[in-house]
Amino acid sequence: MKTIEDLKKLKGQRVVVRVDFNVPFKDGKIRDDNRIVAALPTIKYLISKGARVILLSHLGKISYKEAPEVIEEMKKKNSLAPVAVRLSELIGSKVAFSEATRGEKLESMVNALKDGQILLVQNTRYEKGEEKNDSELSKDWAKLADVFVMDAFGSAHRAHASTYGIPAILKNEGKEVAIGYLVEKEVANLSRCVNVKTSDRPYVAILGGFKVSDKIKVIDSLLKKCDKILIGGAMAYTFAKALGKSIGTSPCEDDQLEYAKKCLTEAKGRILLPVDSVATNGFENWTKKILCEDGNIPDGFEGMDIGPKTAKLYQDEILKAKMVFWNGPMGVFEQKEFAKGTIAICEAIAKVPHSFTVCGGGDSAAAVAEFGFKDKFSHVSTGGGASLEMIENDGHLPGIDVLK
Ligand code: ADP
Ligand code: MG
Repeated sequence: MKTIEDLKKLKGQRVVVRVDFNVPFKDGKIRDDNRIVAALPTIKYLISKGARVILLSHLGKISYKEAPEVIEEMKKKNSLAPVAVRLSELIGSKVAFSEATRGEKLESMVNALKDGQILLVQNTRYEKGEEKNDSELSKDWAKLADVFVMDAFGSAHRAHASTYGIPAILKNEGKEVAIGYLVEKEVANLSRCVNVKTSDRPYVAILGGFKVSDKIKVIDSLLKKCDKILIGGAMAYTFAKALGKSIGTSPCEDDQLEYAKKCLTEAKGRILLPVDSVATNGFENWTKKILCEDGNIPDGFEGMDIGPKTAKLYQDEILKAKMVFWNGPMGVFEQKEFAKGTIAICEAIAKVPHSFTVCGGGDSAAAVAEFGFKDKFSHVSTGGGASLEMIENDGHLPGIDVLK
């Protein structure tokens, strides 16, 4: 696979770059510009080489099943125009913005670009065909490009027109396609978690978060590769019930009990479950908080976080590890009282500076950032769903494989 530094000719070339500018907004303002910042190295490299940079990204969701006026509303809400302004501030030069996502207006803006200039195109999902990988749309976009660069790691698990259709066409035409710096870094780090070297053992995975059913493929994949799997979060209660423990009113997926039993049998002791739990009599408006020291949760209570004994047990396993992959918070970390388990994991990781430590997953990465541990990890993935799919599929993602 080529990286941008392998691209032979950039000066004067029209380089279409798929970036991930799917940033969160609050009251019409960008709440967190991390994703824009993450794309800067690739953009700066390309303009320094005199490329004419055309940026494509999606933002939010637009459902075409709705009534026309609702669709218009969704489009307005998910406009990339404020991103062009922010990008221009961050990069210190003008960024042109094309409201048109297709056709003559867009083409003439592309043709007006001079060497080293940047054009951001409005939200790719303004086109109904984007998510369907529509071939006519892909052709129209491919016409704008002499070279294609994929730097949207967070969208690489989707075979859409802008992530898959364009590079597939360009490759056929013998044009160059490559990955940008962000994708290169993500692929290198996450691949190491699936192609495990002996020197990276013991390899410990920590899995938490909400649902077992969301994570079945991740669990299956990690079971094959890891020396230990530490389970926390809401999904731990499905496993606890499968073992015959009482779980009170904790979240539990009864249709996954058989699957949980199967995992526990296959793991032959490599799966660790919480030995104690913090529980409350309700999720939000609770009035009683208890520590269930033997891991059994009484009727009327639900587990909200792993307990201190479990936190210590898991920390000890992390301290022995050479490689750690973590997905999913250990508790309801959004409520301060139940963030302790998640913070305990962060603290242990901060203590193993010579181990290779990776965090992947939307909420987990948000927790790591919120509690101030981002720089303690070898790598915190920028792609929630994409990082998980990378683990599930042994390092393969459609938006990356298409470039090979
Ligand atoms: P990620 O995005 O990192 O893959 P998930 O989306 O699977 O993680 O899960 C994150 C959510 O799981 C968080 O909102 C957190 O509050 C919730 N969660 C964790 N533990 C519990 C629990 N014991 N009860 C209810 N929700 C929980
Ligand atoms: Mg999530």
